[in-house]
Amino acid sequence: MIRVHILGVPNDDNSSFLKGAAEAPSNIRAELFSSAYNMWTETGVNLGEPGVLNDAGDVEFNRSEDAWDVIESSVFELVRIGDRVISLGGDHAITHPVVKAFRHKYPRFGTLHFDAHPDIYHEFEGNPRSHASPFARIMEEKLADRLVQVGIRAATGHQREQWSRFGVEAIEMRDLKDMPKIRFETPIYVSLDMDALDPAYAPGVSHREPGGMSPRQVINIIQALEGTVVGADIVEYNPRQDISNITATVAAKLLKELAGRILCRGAL
Ligand code: MN
Ligand code: MN
Repeated sequence: MIRVHILGVPNDDNSSFLKGAAEAPSNIRAELFSSAYNMWTETGVNLGEPGVLNDAGDVEFNRSEDAWDVIESSVFELVRIGDRVISLGGDHAITHPVVKAFRHKYPRFGTLHFDAHPDIYHEFEGNPRSHASPFARIMEEKLADRLVQVGIRAATGHQREQWSRFGVEAIEMRDLKDMPKIRFETPIYVSLDMDALDPAYAPGVSHREPGGMSPRQVINIIQALEGTVVGADIVEYNPRQDISNITATVAAKLLKELAGRILCRGAL
């Protein structure tokens, strides 16, 4: 049986504007396991069944090792044996070492990325590891064969050039009228930046960008996604910006549907 691990990655060292995303994992867990809700997905998967969903705890950083090496090896330890991992950031910078770990396991690999921002700056404020740059590193290092971005509404001229340079398929928010049917021929990794959602639904982010997605739109795309989902991350939730834990509740809901999608092969 496929197992899904939740792995906290409490790191916001590369956030350019506000700190706080490192505090996200425990808040999302608290909502996920709250007795206010049951553990069934909308698609009929019981995540509360023993052995289905495992809390693998948080990545433990230390002074002697590079944080990126620690993240990569912690994720690889789980995916190496074919288990699935949903990482809870942390800011979006952590997606680079996480995807690197998945790439060691999967020679063919594509990424579906929900975000208000393309996060593909060559570097941001002199930091190549910035949370504004993970997808530049991923594409330069050829860690994904294909990158599809959804929900974008803050692309700069430079980032549009980066799209052409790396052959990124962007579904911008202004074009998201009907639900896109997305199909991958390779194993799929889903990277979910909470600011893809409209700040009305998810105010607890460091960079609020109005005009965004609804939780329903994100869930519908995840449920309809065609192909095998092998991993995911939920990043950029910033509890310091949240109101009454509403964003943590949305993150926990999306986590459940991502786990459900990982456990159901093919689209529903
Ligand atoms: Mn992002
Ligand atoms: Mn973003």
